[in-house]
Amino acid sequence: MKLYNTLTRNLETFKPLNFPKVSFYTCGPTVYDYTHIGHMRTYTNNDILKRTLTYLGYKVNHVMNVTDVGHLTGDDDSGIDKLEKGATKSDKTVWEVVKFFTDNFFKTMDALNISRPDVTCKATDHIEEMIQLINRLKRNGYVYETKEAVYFDVMKFKNYGKLSRQKIEEKLQAVRKEINIDTEKKHPVDFALWFKRIGRFADHTMHWPSPWGEGFPGWHIECSAMSMKYLGDSIDIHTGGIDHIPVHHENEIAQSEGATGKQFVKYWFHNNFLTVDGQKMSKSLGNFYTLSDIEKNKINPLSLRLLFLQSHYRQSLNFTWQSARASQEAFNRLKEIATNLKGPNSQRKKLVKLSDKSIAYQQQFKNAIENDLQTAQAVAVMWDMIKSDIDNEEKYFLLMDFDKIFGLNLDNINEEKIDANIIILAERRLEARKKRNFDQSDKLRIKIEKAGFKIEDKGNSYTIKKSTTKPI
Ligand code: AMP
Ligand code: ZN
Repeated sequence: MKLYNTLTRNLETFKPLNFPKVSFYTCGPTVYDYTHIGHMRTYTNNDILKRTLTYLGYKVNHVMNVTDVGHLTGDDDSGIDKLEKGATKSDKTVWEVVKFFTDNFFKTMDALNISRPDVTCKATDHIEEMIQLINRLKRNGYVYETKEAVYFDVMKFKNYGKLSRQKIEEKLQAVRKEINIDTEKKHPVDFALWFKRIGRFADHTMHWPSPWGEGFPGWHIECSAMSMKYLGDSIDIHTGGIDHIPVHHENEIAQSEGATGKQFVKYWFHNNFLTVDGQKMSKSLGNFYTLSDIEKNKINPLSLRLLFLQSHYRQSLNFTWQSARASQEAFNRLKEIATNLKGPNSQRKKLVKLSDKSIAYQQQFKNAIENDLQTAQAVAVMWDMIKSDIDNEEKYFLLMDFDKIFGLNLDNINEEKIDANIIILAERRLEARKKRNFDQSDKLRIKIEKAGFKIEDKGNSYTIKKSTTKPI
């Protein structure tokens, strides 16, 4: 499979460090507010990558953190802890905020059928690992301490900037003027590994003892510590949004490689944004929609997933309600098609022998997805396959096969509980129709309708639903 690697800026052939195992780390949410559908675009695309690797036979071990401490409102160690901000805003304790918004995050993930990571780890459960890592960095000479914090000394790490390809001078221009709150900080790009519970953080609710006094960890150190704990010193894939490239991921590299001396990540996978009117959907701009907005507008969250599949993960995607509704219609059609293809006999999906034509569609699908996840192309192959003249059973098989990656839950069709006797009547009626015995088929239709069901013919198959009108 070919995958774009932010580190090399190249499309590379994916070769895991330890075939067929793939170690896969995802930067998780900061759980201080409602999750929005912009986040979900990133997590859907990560899920597509994970499903693709699994489809291709790799054994993926997926770890995702939940940031519940230390992520400040400013990227440059300025501002306040987002979690404390969430607590003040909602008049809850910080722990209640964490619980509430973590639940909201996973509820939204589930609604979009984003598979859960193998390991989900909270920053606050790994304070000890972070302290150990800071100590290790200290032994390697990358750390200095001030009255307010413990910092990573960026000037000592010679590869700083290799991911973003920004020189430190360029970074300095991007750094806002007023940020040098800690006057003892040696260089504005140095970043905090540990904040002490003094000065502006004197009242910080979450705090732990450490060799540098009571305090709390910086945001970046958690990902290095947890990815190392669960996946080892060097991992195959690390994912996140493109906003993480210049600071968070650059800092993760500095910390991890500064500690181990080994390459931290082989493939960096970055997702572009979901935008509104061309601007990143974000909490700070207030231009975001949540799961409940989606549901209020009668959009099935899975049709949002289909919408995300229609664009490439490295391109930005502008969200409009019009595009969401169009995707909803396409999704409804797809569900309808899946229902009809499946028919009443759920054994159909067991079919394995495919015709040459079906194999060719499967290959086209694979080619698209293996080419740096060209999901829009893969969706187009699916529609072509549906419109083709291949056998219905093969169509159903292929649809289910493609859905292993799409994750649209097409298998879970709206099958109402239909009595086995009705199915028998319907099957007998299908036989009668095949023999062109229309008298018999009409009689059977009346029987089915009297029992309160509606039967519709679909070529050589049919669908049955509970009738919404009273039987005659
Ligand atoms: P956060 O909770 O802000 O750390 O964000 C969680 C993940 O969602 C990160 O990987 C972000 O890059 C990503 N993200 C945030 N906003 C958007 C957006 N508008 N479109 C796509 N991804 C986003
Ligand atoms: Zn991270």
